Amino acid sequence: PVAPDYNKLQQIIDEAYKLFENDSAGAPADYIPELARVEPDLFGISVVTVDGRVFSAGHVEHCFSIQSISKVFTLAMVMEQLGQQAILEKLGAEPTGLPFNSVTAIEQQATRVGNPLVNAGAIATTSLLEGKSAAAKWKNILAFYSACAGEELELLKDIYESEAATNARNQAIARLLDAYGVMYDDPEKAVDVYTRQCSVGITTKQLAAMGATLAAGGINPFTGVEVMNAENIPQILSIMLSCGMYDYSGTWSYLTGLPAKSGVGGGIVAVVPGKGAIAAFSPRLDGAGNSIRAQKAIAYISQQLNINIFDPQ
Ligand code: GLU
Repeated sequence: PVAPDYNKLQQIIDEAYKLFENDSAGAPADYIPELARVEPDLFGISVVTVDGRVFSAGHVEHCFSIQSISKVFTLAMVMEQLGQQAILEKLGAEPTGLPFNSVTAIEQQATRVGNPLVNAGAIATTSLLEGKSAAAKWKNILAFYSACAGEELELLKDIYESEAATNARNQAIARLLDAYGVMYDDPEKAVDVYTRQCSVGITTKQLAAMGATLAAGGINPFTGVEVMNAENIPQILSIMLSCGMYDYSGTWSYLTGLPAKSGVGGGIVAVVPGKGAIAAFSPRLDGAGNSIRAQKAIAYISQQLNINIFDPQ
């Protein structure tokens, strides 16, 4: 379990909710038109433990788009198919220190794609996924994310259509990668599958369950189904720790000592290996693209619980 005392855990979550409930700093992402329309005051926090207990506060049943957090789970699929060495060689594991959709990073980094958690690396990851067609890949992605959540997930059609109509930058990134020989499928198809995976709808509770599946060695805590290979999880978590919180990942790691992944939809999930996961959702973002209240809530809870993975005690 995440905490030895469950009453205390709920109390800490309630405290985090109250402490940051009225924080209205930041603004929802607006480069995807449909994201700018999300109700900015929504705020939810959910903890799921490896033994399937759920502790929540706020709007944890509101469904929002997973966005960049999807990158972790497509990475898990491709790592399972191609192995850890191929991930290192084809995608890399170096933080870029630049924004998630940086073209400069592609020009500067030896592997071009940097790591699987920035847009370039994630589109390349999606292009590596096995599957007869784009439709087959997408079907497998949705089934895998659902197995990680322990519930059927769905595409948020409005988000998908809005992003597909405005994702010229991601299309340019995919073509540039293609020019460098590091795109492993048709670039247009890879971007479409990537855009769909970013538009998967999840609740804060489902996001915590996806994180708890990583914490539990690949076994979903609700269904008991083994959805991914436990052997790959240390590598996935290490990339989350160094690259999961955009160009704020170093500071995040310093403050919390927890592998996490953030998305411009306002979700963040932090994984506590062997114990569980903390997820939070709030649409207002800071300049790096991280939800302000979600990061504050998770940092507060992790500090109160003393669950920094580098703590020797
Ligand atoms: N779908 C978004 C994009 O490609 C995801 C960005 C994110 O959450 O970081 O721009």
